[in-house]
Order: sequence, then structure tokens, then C-alpha cells
Amino acid sequence: MIKDFVRKRSINVCLVNTGGCNGCDIEIVSCLAPRYDIEQYGIYVHNNPREADVLVVTGPVTGAWEKRLLEIYEKTPEPKIVIAVGACALSGGIFKEGHIHGPVDKVIPVDAKLPGCPPRPSEIISAVVSIAPDALAAKEKLLNQKLKEEKNKVKA
Ligand code: SF4
Repeated sequence: MIKDFVRKRSINVCLVNTGGCNGCDIEIVSCLAPRYDIEQYGIYVHNNPREADVLVVTGPVTGAWEKRLLEIYEKTPEPKIVIAVGACALSGGIFKEGHIHGPVDKVIPVDAKLPGCPPRPSEIISAVVSIAPDALAAKEKLLNQKLKEEKNKVKA
């Protein structure tokens, strides 16, 4: 419960590369550098789906990644917002003619799509910031629900 309170006003982003060329991931990592400083918006990027509000998924979803991506999605707590980043995640991109199991929205539900090969860090930040109000509202609703349940338990 304390963890929920602490996380209430921040957005945790889990980065998942499902077999892309790493170009998109390099741009996402650039968002952490002082030039873009994504953390100034209360957005934290890591690789832990259990702590994530938003999954940022890159790559075309190779055969090896299909099951893994589903597992990651299952592990992610609500509100489970997914942003597909880059041409490969959106359509298979340069891997379209290859043996892929994607694009991402064929495997898990996608809330926002960001095209580009790769998209610029400023575009990635805009995409995450644009879904932040919805993610925060959904988190607040869940937290209030949990609090209500706890109070009812104490009363009973
Ligand atoms: S969209 Fe372009 S940069 Fe991103 S993973 Fe695909 S090929 Fe690489």
C-alpha cells in the first residue's frame, strides 16, 4: 500500500525490445540523458514489468518474443498502458518480409502508436506525456478502490 502511495504521482515505463535493431531503444535511452531528461516529468524508465504503468514496446515481435511479450503483459499491473514505438512495432518495418509474429498489436492490446525509424526522443517523450493523465487517473481510481477495500476489511 505504501508503495502505491509513493508511485501515485509518477509514471513507470518498462522498455521491451521484441527483436528490433536497437535503434528505437537507443533513442529511448537518450530520453534519460540530460539533454532530454525525461525524469523531470516524473517518468522513470526501467525493465521491470511488475512496477510498470506503461509498456513501451519496440521491435517486430520475433518468434522467440511472442510468448515472452504476453508474459510481460500479464505481469504488468493495471492500468497496463502499451505504446508501440517505431515502424517495426507498428507494422513489422524492415523485418516485415521475415519470419515475425508481430506487429505488436497482433500479440497484445496497444493504446498508442508512434511511427518512425526510429522516432526522435522528443516524440517519444511527447507520446508518454500525452498518455500520462489517463495513466495517473486510472492509478488513482485503483488506489481509491484498494483503500475502500482495506477500510471495509478493518470494519468487518
Ligand atoms: S523501427 Fe527502425 S530503428 Fe526501430 S527497431 Fe525497427 S529498424 Fe530499428
